[in-house]
Amino acid sequence: MNHKTIIEPFRIKVVEHIKMTTEAEREAFLKNAAYNPFLLHSTEVIVDLLTDSGTSAMSSNQWAGIMQGDESYAGATSWLKMEAAIKDLTGCPYILPTHQGRAAEHLLYSRIGGKGKVFFSNTHFDTTRANIEFSGAEAIDLPVPEAKQPELELPFKGNLDIAKLEENISKHGKENVAAVILTVTNNSGGGQPVSMANARAVSELCKQNGILFILDACRVAENAWYIRHREEGFYEKTYRQIAQEMFALADGCIMSAKKDALVNMGGFLALKNLDLAILCRTVLIITEGYSTYGGLSGRDMEAIAQGLMEVFEPDYLDYRIKSTAYLGNALTKLGIPVIRPIGGHAVYVDAKQFYHHIPPEQFPGQALVCQLYLKGGIRSCEIGSVMFGKYDEAGKLIPAPMELVRLAIPRRVYTQSHIDYVIETFEMLLDDREAARGFKIVYEPPFLRHFTARFTPVS
Ligand SMILES: *Cc1c(COP(=O)(O)O)cnc(C)c1O
Repeated sequence: MNHKTIIEPFRIKVVEHIKMTTEAEREAFLKNAAYNPFLLHSTEVIVDLLTDSGTSAMSSNQWAGIMQGDESYAGATSWLKMEAAIKDLTGCPYILPTHQGRAAEHLLYSRIGGKGKVFFSNTHFDTTRANIEFSGAEAIDLPVPEAKQPELELPFKGNLDIAKLEENISKHGKENVAAVILTVTNNSGGGQPVSMANARAVSELCKQNGILFILDACRVAENAWYIRHREEGFYEKTYRQIAQEMFALADGCIMSAKKDALVNMGGFLALKNLDLAILCRTVLIITEGYSTYGGLSGRDMEAIAQGLMEVFEPDYLDYRIKSTAYLGNALTKLGIPVIRPIGGHAVYVDAKQFYHHIPPEQFPGQALVCQLYLKGGIRSCEIGSVMFGKYDEAGKLIPAPMELVRLAIPRRVYTQSHIDYVIETFEMLLDDREAARGFKIVYEPPFLRHFTARFTPVS
């Protein structure tokens, strides 16, 4: 018999205090934060599932590396370690370090984008889209149709629609296509994986048409887990080999180290073409830093080099994917509507279904986010009409297609008992579902309003 309990494949050597709060205290905190969890102080939160970005716990080996950080301006040993780790993983000879993923995106997409250019992706992550549109180019999402059906259980719902890609390349003209970007796993699409077969098809199409193929590799290790377990012919390979095989198909990659490099800050751009690397390096030196640190400390680079090794450990990846699924499956069992199958880094709850008595104009996702905080001190993120809603000319809300709440799981931070506590909190919410009320926005900035908007409950 196999054990049912997922134990964390690590022991805890350093602990970080969590301040326990009462519901009455949280009510005051939430009111003070204008019912927007982004405005809460982290000390007011018990379980923080706002994001998996930059929230990883580092290992004892990463912390040991921190002490060995070489802070030399040029040619630091820490840079050489990070460069070697990325070269070996990606097969790219030219590595540009950056302080975050979006900085790497800016380096590349500001160079190859511009007016008249178009980019295709399974789904552009929001910073990717922003960088492309800021350059004057157009970003077009081409997810497979099943990606839009939350209840469908399919193995690779993160895939890019190959037929649509082919169609769009001829429609826009291959000379106008700046790049095809494959995001693995597909963050904005529910953290769903991309198959190797899909990556191969994208690669072939790009080669035939002379189009640059870039991997947005933030969660490439998590994606490799799915390929090994769900795609024919990969079970005998290691996760690292699977990732390397995927990198080999592309012309380069962008990675936010805040995800699968298991660090709190960092990123990089890796390229196979020298001319393109030189073009991007010029911007790197102007905006990020010299080409052997790019906005990172030596100690950050040590931690990245080590994190990129650790993330492919089979016990870690198994725990990572299974513990996220544990939360999602438990919620499904309670009858709480979630996007299926469960993705690698987060569980997405369908708040429109959960609070069907709250209309989109009153932000059911925000209502759920607030209830989770009130009842359990859990911080989550609305991905619905607060984040993506627009207004028509008469000022009426055009709702987002879905009203989701994302429970993102930080890497190696919480134990199964924290997750059981989250599940229990959902059970409490089920009891007086109808009592939950919607919200009204009383202040919003013109862009990215979800970060700073202020709300008041609808009476
Ligand atoms: C986080 C993320 C980025 C941007 O990285 P930052 O380090 O936050 O700037 C780009 N693409 C995807 C898919 C991401 O998840």
